[in-house]
Order: sequence, then C-alpha cells, then structure tokens
Amino acid sequence: MNWKGRKSGNGHGKVARYSAFQLVRQGVSGDDWPRAWRHHDLRGAYDVVIIGGGVHGLATAYYLASRHGITNVAVVDKGYIGGGGSGRNTAILRSNYLTPEGVAFYDRSLHLYQHLSSELNFNVMFSQRGHMTLAHNDSSLRTMRWRAEVNKIQGVDSRVIGPEEIKRLVPPMDTSDRTRYPILGALYHPPGGIIRHDAVVWGYARAADALGVQIHQETEVTAIDVAGGRVQGVQTSRGPIAAPVVVNCTAGWASLIAAMAGVDLPIITHPLQAAVTEPVKFFLDTVVVSGTLHVYVSQTDRGELVFGASVDPFASYSMRASLEFLEEVAGHVLQLMPSIATMRVLRQWAGLCDMTPDYSPIIGTTPVDGFIVDVGWGTYGFKAGPAAGEAVAELVATKRVPGLIAGFDLARFGDGRLVGEKGAAAVGH
Ligand SMILES: Cc1cc2nc3c(=O)[nH]c(=O)nc-3n(C[C@H](O)[C@H](O)[C@H](O)COP(=O)(O)OP(=O)(O)OC[C@H]3O[C@@H](n4cnc5c(N)ncnc54)[C@H](O)[C@@H]3O)c2cc1C
Repeated sequence: MNWKGRKSGNGHGKVARYSAFQLVRQGVSGDDWPRAWRHHDLRGAYDVVIIGGGVHGLATAYYLASRHGITNVAVVDKGYIGGGGSGRNTAILRSNYLTPEGVAFYDRSLHLYQHLSSELNFNVMFSQRGHMTLAHNDSSLRTMRWRAEVNKIQGVDSRVIGPEEIKRLVPPMDTSDRTRYPILGALYHPPGGIIRHDAVVWGYARAADALGVQIHQETEVTAIDVAGGRVQGVQTSRGPIAAPVVVNCTAGWASLIAAMAGVDLPIITHPLQAAVTEPVKFFLDTVVVSGTLHVYVSQTDRGELVFGASVDPFASYSMRASLEFLEEVAGHVLQLMPSIATMRVLRQWAGLCDMTPDYSPIIGTTPVDGFIVDVGWGTYGFKAGPAAGEAVAELVATKRVPGLIAGFDLARFGDGRLVGEKGAAAVGH
C-alpha cells in the first residue's frame, strides 16, 4: 500500500500531499505548510518500539504501517532523526556485492529506492549515474571479475572495463602508467549512484507519521526490560514504555543497546570520516572508488566533490574529524585526478560504524524473545535501509524470517556460516 496523503491513521487530520497544485495553493493562500511529522506525548505502551530514528528505524516503521497495518508504533531517538549515520553518510547506492546473499539483498534495496520518490511522495533525488571500483593490481582485478560474474548471474548490471573506457567515462582520471599505482581496470556498475540522504530520512518519517506512527526525538533509551527471556519494554529519558516487540536500529550504538537486553553482539564501533569541497562546474559523472588508495569520490548535484575512505583504524565513539584523514584522502585522490589540486575543502565530519567480523549485517531475532536487531551496517548500511526495513517489518508482522535476510542471522557467528563481504565493502560503501 502506498502512502497517498490521506487522513493520518491516528486521526490527527489531513496531511498535505506534495504536488504542483498544492504548491500553487499554498502560495496563493499564504498558509504555512503543515509539519512533516508531529510531536506527540509519549504513550505508556506501544505494539512495537523501534530504537533509532535513522533510515533503518524509520523505514521499518513505515513498512510496518504501510504493508502490514501495524501503526501503534513508536520510533525513539536520543537526538534528532537522521542525526546518526543516516545524515552523515556519503549517500552511495549500489548492489554489486560479492556474495549471492549480499547481491540479492542490496539489489532489492536498490529496486525499492528506484520507486521511493513516488511511494513516499517526497523527492529523494536518486541519481543513477554509475559506480566504478578501480583495480590497481592483478589480485584486485581478479576480485572484480569474480564480483562481475556473481552480479551477472543474479541479474545485476556489472562488468569489468579497461583503462580506455575508464578514461572515456571519467576524463580527469590519470590512467597513464606513470602513476604510483597504475589503473589496470575497473568494475563498472551503471545502476549505482548517489541519493539525497536527508530526503530519504524525512520522506520515510513523513510517510510513517501520516500512517499513525509516532516519532519521538530527544528520547533516549536507558534500559531494556526483560523478564522470563522475553522483552517487556524500554526505559527512556521521558519515562517507561511497555512493548512486546523492541527493534534495535541504532547502528554505531547497537552493541550498547543490545547489552541492555543482555545480548552480546560481535560488533566493534569505528569512526568513519568524509569531506566535501566547494562546488564547481559538473565534470564527474560517476562514483569512483579505489580500494588500494583507500579513497572514493563523487560529485553532488550542487557541484561539490564528496570524498571518503575506510574507517579510522581504532575503535571509538568519537565523532571528531581529524587532520590526518584529510591529508591522507587529499593526497590519494590527487593520485587519481591531479587536475583538482586547487579545489578547496569546505567541511569534514565523522560518523560511527558498527563493524561485524564478516562485513555483513546482523538482522533478525535474538535469544531474547521479542528483541529484534537490524544492525551491523558498518560503512554500507544507508543503501540497505529500504530492504532491511521491509524485511524487519515482515518479520515482526508474520513472525517468520524472510528468505532475503535468512543468511544474516546472529547465530551464524556461532555456527561458522560467515557471509564474507570484505572484498566488496571495505572502502566502497
Ligand atoms: C562518513 C560516512 C559515510 C558513509 N557512506 C555510506 C555510503 O556512501 N553508502 C551507504 O550505504 N552507507 C554509508 N555509510 C553507512 C551508513 O551511514 C549507515 O550504515 C546507516 O546510516 C545506518 O543507518 P541506521 O538507521 O541503522 O543508523 P543511524 O542513522 O546511525 O541511526 C541510529 C540512531 O540511533 C540513535 N540512538 C543511539 N543510541 C540511542 C539510545 N540509547 N536511545 C535512543 N536512540 C539512540 C542515534 O541517535 C541515531 O540517530 C556511511 C557512514 C558514514 C559515517
């Protein structure tokens, strides 16, 4: 069921549908636009409490309401929605992963993203401009070929290209053999691209709110109540909430939240940094990633270059940016595109990433009945939001684990069934 701007599920009045007609109407009337999502008093009980107001928590809430009619749902966040990784990421979407489980999962997410603007009645600005992962040595090239074959078998558009085609697609790239790490080829994935991350968060929040979900910002979960092996609810900075189902969507804070329920997750939190330059005329039509140089770059619709790298090499909950990162990323990106040397960096920032041993997520049930996790999203979880939200909503509603996420269960670490994605997820988010 799509959200169609109808009366909101909890009877709080009509929510305006965004359209050209509505734009003219608001302009002529001079009325304020209604709030995109509302403030509510905290109820003492909900059917489902979702901890974390990032893309995963909000998508789960939206799909619970829209696909399953479960609307007595609270999304609680200790800060503001999108204040975690969902508002700090570099917004790269792709599905050219390495494992069959990963490819199928991320491809479902890409498919949902393709239709998200019309489903949510909110322009999420998905630009499918192509995604390119460079190979600078034979072993990288071998992994690219491997990924291309896995991708093709699963119907994902992905192929290995040579330096000539790379140069044609990205003219400023130095494809000569004079560089320190000459480019031998690349995995090219035309459906990949970038999106506007805030819009995705706001779009899900607005649509979930319209269906009756309550979003509670500045509401920190301080404890999780468990009795007889079953979750009973949560304690928050605004009071207790009883709930038979609690979903952990807190990414970088996931292991802290799970520990409140007595669940041990194999997750280590690392900071990840990114930076953005001043805007310039559009010249870079493709997302470019180099695993060897630990750097990636894309150009936004406004013309800024966005740079990123792999996680900081230490565990921390600090979200401070560092000069070391900037020096390193600038040096490495100039090896790829020397002609951008005079561009100025405007800003850099950091977020937290919940890294698992196999670079795949942990989604599903836990030893505590009713306590569900959608975590372990590391440096690559923004693109996963729609598919994860859809699958977790199905799990909550039907109590059956959807096939798409069956391989990502917590038990795999004990059973030795790892889903090794490092070859496709360490630098290219
Ligand atoms: C610099 C950077 C670049 C990235 N680039 C990409 C990319 O290009 N593509 C991609 O797919 N992924 C990327 N990622 C990863 C991606 O951002 C995350 O995997 C994703 O946003 C996780 O979303 P989430 O909804 O699970 O968590 P988050 O968006 O992190 O939300 C978790 C929320 O939980 C809340 N919370 C924590 N503790 C509590 C508590 N006790 N009580 C209540 N609320 C709590 C936090 O306030 C936060 O808002 C990047 C990450 C970073 C940092």
